[in-house]
Amino acid sequence: MSAASGSGRVAIVGGGIGGLCAAALLRQRGIEAVVFEQAPAFREVGAGLQVSPNGVKVLRSLGLGDALDALGVRPQNLVIRGWKTGIAISRTGIQGDFDRAYGAPYYHVHRADLHQMLLGAVEPSALHVGRRLTSMEMDDEDGEVTLGFGEDRARFDAVIGADGIHSAVRRFLHGDESPRFTGNVAFRAMVPVDDALRREVARDSTIWVGPGGHVVHYYVRGGSLLNIVAVQETTRWADESWTQEAERGDLLQAFAGWNKGLLRILERAEQCNRWALYDRDPLPAWGRGRATLLGDAAHPMLPFLAQGAVMAMEDAFLLAESLAAGSDAAQALRAYEDARIQRTGRIQLAARARGHAMHVGSARESLRRNATLFFNSRLKRDEQIERGQSLYGYDVAKMASKATGSRP
Ligand SMILES: Cc1cc2nc3c(=O)[nH]c(=O)nc-3n(C[C@H](O)[C@H](O)[C@H](O)COP(=O)(O)OP(=O)(O)OC[C@H]3O[C@@H](n4cnc5c(N)ncnc54)[C@H](O)[C@@H]3O)c2cc1C
Repeated sequence: MSAASGSGRVAIVGGGIGGLCAAALLRQRGIEAVVFEQAPAFREVGAGLQVSPNGVKVLRSLGLGDALDALGVRPQNLVIRGWKTGIAISRTGIQGDFDRAYGAPYYHVHRADLHQMLLGAVEPSALHVGRRLTSMEMDDEDGEVTLGFGEDRARFDAVIGADGIHSAVRRFLHGDESPRFTGNVAFRAMVPVDDALRREVARDSTIWVGPGGHVVHYYVRGGSLLNIVAVQETTRWADESWTQEAERGDLLQAFAGWNKGLLRILERAEQCNRWALYDRDPLPAWGRGRATLLGDAAHPMLPFLAQGAVMAMEDAFLLAESLAAGSDAAQALRAYEDARIQRTGRIQLAARARGHAMHVGSARESLRRNATLFFNSRLKRDEQIERGQSLYGYDVAKMASKATGSRP
């Protein structure tokens, strides 16, 4: 495969899951991609991540399937429980025919483990830390893009902004527009797993839904840790920063009165943090010339469908295939955006809507929600599978061949 003309040297701003995945996929196709990360070292937060089959297909294409299998956990069911009674409102199997129908299994991983896997897939010489993007200029004559990292400046044939929800590249392309605080705050914590906990908590993805909040827990790191994400609606976020350390007591206070079995788990939470959840509306266009966006920089979304990082990985695959397809770099970036913008915009809005449904407060609304969940879990299996097809069945390789006109 030949690289798109003008895509010779590609700068990726941001070394999160999206940026590293893009670097690995581009380099796999012979394109010289380099990553610039602002932090002094590559690192990820101590939290879990759900990787649905559509993301697993991207990781497998990088040869990371075995590593994912070794470090990840494959949940048996998706179980939704009532906040107070703990009764399972719905239970859906996510192994066996689920894997076959969508072309890959569902995994739960520790973010740091996935980040390490991706780091290992990129040559160290292509990775630069302590490099915070501070300026960006496009040359109208030759299309090249000059990036500034403080005093240092360098020219590139193409630039990918994978620098997250507060993206600097997005600001240079689209102006200054702050993300919106959604009125949701997420506690993230880990529980070390012992035999007693293992007996009490099944190897499922469990969601407890209640008025104004929900709690998700699942195993990561081969089952040695239980990851907790506990979301609470709140009217304000007093802190300037969007993340802060929290005490276990804050978590327990936020979910006081919830099911006793759940509280027994929360009582053992360690490494507790609190994150303000922001999102943005879908953009009508992502890039210009030889610059574009990827992952949260392009389409930050609420985590309620567990698709933000997975969408970044899908983006990375389509981007790499488009640039490798051999056309002009600016055209290749537009082909990439065309292939991705509608899907990611739909999922941004669907994630927002899911939050509303999970957090309903009145008895009438929760009865209606629970009846729908129960009914859906009792659907015939093929109907259930069909409903998830557009999200989990998405095949990046097929979509890329459609976008670039090449054979899969
Ligand atoms: C509570 C919670 C739970 C979630 N659960 C899931 C889940 O289960 N599954 C899932 O798929 N998604 C999940 N997500 C979403 C997921 O975390 C994000 O969508 C994903 O991390 C986005 O990756 P990214 O690489 O685009 O951005 P980021 O991970 O934000 O990485 C951006 C990188 O760019 C760097 N950077 C920023 N500015 C600059 C600059 N000026 N110069 C250089 N570098 C810069 C940053 O330091 C960072 O390393 C969750 C999110 C939250 C908040």
